[in-house]
Amino acid sequence: MYPVDIETMPSSCGHNHGHHEAPVAASEPVKQVSLSKSSPLDTITLTTYPEDSTPIALSWGESSPEERGPIVASRDREGLVKHNAIGAHSGSYCVYHALAIGSKQLKKDHVADYTNAQPAFSVPEQKTWYNKEDIIAMDPFGHLTPVLYDEVSKSENVEVRPTIAITKAHMQLFELKDAVEQGRLKVDGKVVINKNGDLNVSKIAVEPVWYLPGVAKRFGITEDELRTSLFEDTNGMYPELVTRPDIKVFLPPIGGLTVYIFGDPKFVSDPSKKLALRIHDECNGSDVFGSDICTCRPYLTFGIEEAVKEAQNGGSGVCIYFRKEGRALGEVTKYLVYNARKRGGDTAAEYFHRTECIAGVRDMRFQQLMPDILKWLGITKIDRMLSMSNMKHDAIVEQGIPILERIPLPDELIPPDSRVEIDAKINSGYFTNGKVMTTEELKNVRGREWHDVL
Ligand SMILES: [Zn+2]
Repeated sequence: MYPVDIETMPSSCGHNHGHHEAPVAASEPVKQVSLSKSSPLDTITLTTYPEDSTPIALSWGESSPEERGPIVASRDREGLVKHNAIGAHSGSYCVYHALAIGSKQLKKDHVADYTNAQPAFSVPEQKTWYNKEDIIAMDPFGHLTPVLYDEVSKSENVEVRPTIAITKAHMQLFELKDAVEQGRLKVDGKVVINKNGDLNVSKIAVEPVWYLPGVAKRFGITEDELRTSLFEDTNGMYPELVTRPDIKVFLPPIGGLTVYIFGDPKFVSDPSKKLALRIHDECNGSDVFGSDICTCRPYLTFGIEEAVKEAQNGGSGVCIYFRKEGRALGEVTKYLVYNARKRGGDTAAEYFHRTECIAGVRDMRFQQLMPDILKWLGITKIDRMLSMSNMKHDAIVEQGIPILERIPLPDELIPPDSRVEIDAKINSGYFTNGKVMTTEELKNVRGREWHDVL
């Protein structure tokens, strides 16, 4: 029994009623509520309970995709009584989907046609896909659902959507053009296509799919504690987290990740080939718009350059981009912290403290779930890790993937105003081949202040 305070709720129907202040009489089922006359609906289903439905069998970590079963989140068609996942598809974009339905620009009964949408290259199947410990934050069969589960989708009359898509592209970055012009990279016609530094890249987009018992275990909490905090701190956004302890899979409304592979994708999981890897967490201000307050874009493009070199040397280069803006605190919090730093005397000694004052913590990226994508790709060791983060390093090593060499960002690529960030991070445990400053010395590492700017 899930430990919510439900025992005191009188019930005439045997349902577990969610709350004392339910907007209906205690003797009525709480799961359906009548809306006002202005509402387009007569009633709305707030949540479901185990006795309401027969979910399509879903058993995480089984030895075949058929035994594992499809992931069904949508309530459409017969989904309301057959769904086996909480939440909605497409991460945070599920809200736009709801707007499209609500504004009548998308028909609720639209059936996707996946003709020619199949992966542009194949990712070799891995043992980890059939292990409920290794992969708990994505659906290992998310790219194959239209093939694997088309029949069950039709026979059960439910929607089964892909959560992974695999494609190919060219990319152009001015830093890579510079690398070719300066002679750091050679044009080989395969990875570096031309003298403009255009790159051939293989890409994989992944949406989050959480197996709740596994996620709880990674964080060292119980599944009940995880469900409670997800339910309460999102202000009750997903009541089934509480009312459906029998449903173990949750599609959270958060950003996903993208894998960028340079060189032959098959080499990624080949232990005889060297692998260079950059794990990058989103920083829109620097990555896209070139803000000089941090080292994000310089490290991103350095990581891509090194990944390309590894691919040109016969190995493999991978860059994985996680949508975790501003240490997963979001850009509003990030800018508030910038203001507090710039008004308060921007020193490396105060760097983390400023974030802690506003956000309560210095970081919410929680790297515990990050290594899943490495396991899914079949990565068993990392020859050259293009990251200084101890949190990323420790999370990967704890999942049993050794890191053979760590490559810090070269000093000449660090913008002057971002010394505050990088020196504070090095002092707190980031990897470096160079100097680790004392706490006293950090007081003298100062960023540009506003009177210098405006
Ligand atoms: Zn940044």
